[in-house]
Amino acid sequence: MARAVLALSIAAALAACAPRALAPPPAVTGVPSSTGYLACQQGLSGSGAMFEALVPLATREGCGFAEGVKITATPSPLNQPAVLSCPTALALTRFDLEVVQPAALQHFGKRVVKIHHVGGYTCRGINGGRKWSQHAFGNAIDVIGFDLADGTRITVGRDWRAGGAPARFLHDIARGACQVFRVVLTPAYDKAHQDHFHLDLGPERLCGI
Ligand SMILES: [Zn+2]
Repeated sequence: MARAVLALSIAAALAACAPRALAPPPAVTGVPSSTGYLACQQGLSGSGAMFEALVPLATREGCGFAEGVKITATPSPLNQPAVLSCPTALALTRFDLEVVQPAALQHFGKRVVKIHHVGGYTCRGINGGRKWSQHAFGNAIDVIGFDLADGTRITVGRDWRAGGAPARFLHDIARGACQVFRVVLTPAYDKAHQDHFHLDLGPERLCGI
């Protein structure tokens, strides 16, 4: 099936998400760089984000992060807490304030009041490949939808190709996400991203919109 073919492609391997036995990843530094971590937390607080700082995490497999947070609002409430590296949480906050809210006002005349995601930190490799997913270091989050102030829900899976204001909103914010994150993967990128935006702050650079 097409999915199996895609899983083999190098392009798809950049982003998709399934557990695998992998070679050891780069070591995670266990000691936070206090100034950077502190500045990042101050940035989050200053943006109105709700979060708690986490102790460094380093799993036996090699996943983890030195400077992580559990974030619950960016400042839009998240549907569930997200564990992310602090810079990724800060990027998500910028995405909310500088990209999502202006686009929601432009396209709907309403604010987004909730952001739905299906995962930040997860100890896993990239689908079908030997590389670690940026999720394994807390550098990635998969966003699936947005609730507007009037209760309307916009979802990547249903609305990306549906046309009208919801589709224009999603395409606009995907473009804007590329200014905030280093890797942005959307339904336009491959079959593995038909229902979510993969937003990451890892070392790659790819605007898959
Ligand atoms: Zn992802």
